[in-house]
Amino acid sequence: METYKHILLAADFSENGGAVTERAKDLADKYQAKLSVVHVMDNLLITDAAYGSTIPFDLDLPAELMAAAKKRLAHLADKLAIPEANQWLEMGSPKLEIIRIAEENNVDLIIVGSHGRHGLALLLGSTANGVLHHAKCDVLAVRIKDA
Ligand code: AMP
Repeated sequence: METYKHILLAADFSENGGAVTERAKDLADKYQAKLSVVHVMDNLLITDAAYGSTIPFDLDLPAELMAAAKKRLAHLADKLAIPEANQWLEMGSPKLEIIRIAEENNVDLIIVGSHGRHGLALLLGSTANGVLHHAKCDVLAVRIKDA
């Protein structure tokens, strides 16, 4: 039977319950797969979920924000026993960067969270949707139960 060898968790730090993270860890253990994690700093908008405030900016990303994101990524990676070499902190469009990192590192399963949005939010698109439709490998969208 074909198994997954490299699983990529896309983390936006907005999760409360940790269901997406747990699923990634669980599947990596089950398949004895390498587990990597990526966080993308959106270069148009820093969301309140990740950093506590909403700050639009154009070009230069303040070093403190980068450092804060790195710290959060390292903390999450630590919990999952993911070595530094498998932690990716990128800047740009979350959808495009997640797909790029997956392709460049021979990832065969990407794990994202899904809020199960409807209506306008769905029309506007979401990261989960974008990854699902454009990734060349399998994508698992783990439903996040919104509080
Ligand atoms: P969204 O579609 O924006 O609600 O996000 C759904 C999922 O996409 C999240 O649970 C994450 O798995 C992933 N995601 C969204 N934004 C980012 C980001 N900036 N960096 C990494 N993963 C992200």
